[in-house]
Amino acid sequence: MKKVAVLGGGPAGAFAAEQLASAGVETVVFDEKLAWEKPCGGGLTYKAYRQYPFLIQNDTPKKLITETVLAAPGAGAVSLRLTEPLLIYSRFDLNRMLLERAERAGARIEKARVLGMERHGDRWYLRTNNGTLDTDFCIVATGARNPLRDVGTQLTADDAMAALGYYVPGQQEQVDIQFLPRLEGYIWVFPRCGHLSVGICGKGEPASSLRKRLEDYMREKGLSAKGASFYSHLLPSLETAAWKKNRVAGEGWLAVGDAAGLVDPITGEGLYYAMRSADLAAKALLSEIGTLTDKLQAYRRMLRRDFAADLEFGSRLAKRIFLGKFLFGTVPSRMVEFTRRSPRFSAIIQDLFAGTQPYIGLKRRLMRNLNGSLYEILMGMGLSRLLPGRSPVR
Ligand SMILES: Cc1cc2nc3c(=O)[nH]c(=O)nc-3n(C[C@H](O)[C@H](O)[C@H](O)COP(=O)(O)OP(=O)(O)OC[C@H]3O[C@@H](n4cnc5c(N)ncnc54)[C@H](O)[C@@H]3O)c2cc1C
Repeated sequence: MKKVAVLGGGPAGAFAAEQLASAGVETVVFDEKLAWEKPCGGGLTYKAYRQYPFLIQNDTPKKLITETVLAAPGAGAVSLRLTEPLLIYSRFDLNRMLLERAERAGARIEKARVLGMERHGDRWYLRTNNGTLDTDFCIVATGARNPLRDVGTQLTADDAMAALGYYVPGQQEQVDIQFLPRLEGYIWVFPRCGHLSVGICGKGEPASSLRKRLEDYMREKGLSAKGASFYSHLLPSLETAAWKKNRVAGEGWLAVGDAAGLVDPITGEGLYYAMRSADLAAKALLSEIGTLTDKLQAYRRMLRRDFAADLEFGSRLAKRIFLGKFLFGTVPSRMVEFTRRSPRFSAIIQDLFAGTQPYIGLKRRLMRNLNGSLYEILMGMGLSRLLPGRSPVR
C-alpha cells in the first residue's frame, strides 16, 4: 500500500494520518472544515492521556478538572474528587493540535469536501470539491454524520443519541452531571477556557424535548441561554445488535471513530475511542501480516479485544443504568446516595469517570464490594446496630 486517503480530519482522521505518515506512508487528509468547534464537551479522561501522554503534556489551552458534582432527582447532589483530573479542550484547539501533528509527521492536509468515492479494480477514485484523486486505500473518519453511505457503520435512529447544548459565557471549577427522570441520557456542564459547554444527550426522545429539559435546567441554575451560541449533533450509541454486525471495514477501506460507531453507549465518550481506533487501524495496516484482507480482519479483532467488546457489554447496561430501579429508587438516585455515603462505592464511580473501570467486570466489583458498601452506608446513617459486631467484607 503506497498511498492512503483519510476522509475527515477530526481526532480519528488526524491521529490515523499522523501514525501512517510517521511510518513513511504517503498520506493525504481531506476535511471540509479542518480545525473547527465541533459540537462536543471536549472532555478527555485519564484513560486517554495515560495512553497518549502528549494529550496532557502540551501547550494547547485546556482545563484540568478535579471535581465532579453528580445529581439525580430526589437524591440531591454529591461532590466527587477526581484523583486523576479530566482534561477539557475546546474542539477547535484539540483538532488543530492533532492536525498539526499529522502535518509535522508528513501528511498532506487538504481543505476539501469528499463528494463521492468509486472503486475501479483495486484503486479508489475520490471526487472532492477541489478535483479528483486516486488512492490505494481509504480511511473513513467522517464522523457520526458520515455522508458516504456505502462505507462505515450504518447508524439507525435506535443506534444514536441526539446531543445539543449552549456555549455559555461564564466560569466554574467543577463539572456538573445531572440525571433526569425517565431519560436515557444526562445533562452536563463542562467548564472550558473562557466559557461553559452546557449540554444534554438522550436516546429515544426528540431533540425539541431534550432542548426544553436543558433550558429548564439552565433556568433553574441561573445559566442564561440568551446570547449563548446553540449547538447540536448526533452521538453514536449502538444497541447490542448493532455492535454485533457493525460495519467497520470492507474492500479497500476501514472506518475509525464516530464513522465506525465507536462511542461509549453510556457516557458518550468518543474522543478516546476515535484516537484509539485510529491507532489500531494504523497498526493493522502497517503490520507485516498477509494480505490486505488479513489486515482488515486483524483490525476488527484488535478493536474487539481492545475496547469494542466492552462497549458492546456497556450497551446491555445502558437502559438499566439510566432507567432501572434498585432498592425502591431509581438507579441514578441510588448511585448519588451511595457515592455520598460509601467511600468504596465512590472509588468505583471515580474509576468509571477516569475510564479505568471496564463495564465487563463492573458487576463483579460491585458485588464484591456490596457488603462493605452497605456497611459504610448504614454506618453513615447511624444504623450500625443493623450489622451487630460485623466488620465489612473486604
Ligand atoms: C454534544 C456532544 C458532546 C460530546 N462530548 C464529548 C466529550 O466530552 N468527550 C468525549 O470523549 N466525546 C464527546 N463527544 C463525542 C466526540 O465528539 C466524538 O466521538 C468525536 O468527535 C469523534 O471524532 P471523529 O474524528 O471520529 O469525528 P469528528 O470529530 O466528527 O470528525 C469528523 C470530521 O470529518 C469531516 N467531514 C465529514 N464529512 C466530510 C466529507 N464528506 N469530506 C470532508 N470532510 C468531512 C468533518 O468536518 C469533521 O472534521 C461528544 C459528542 C457530542 C455530539
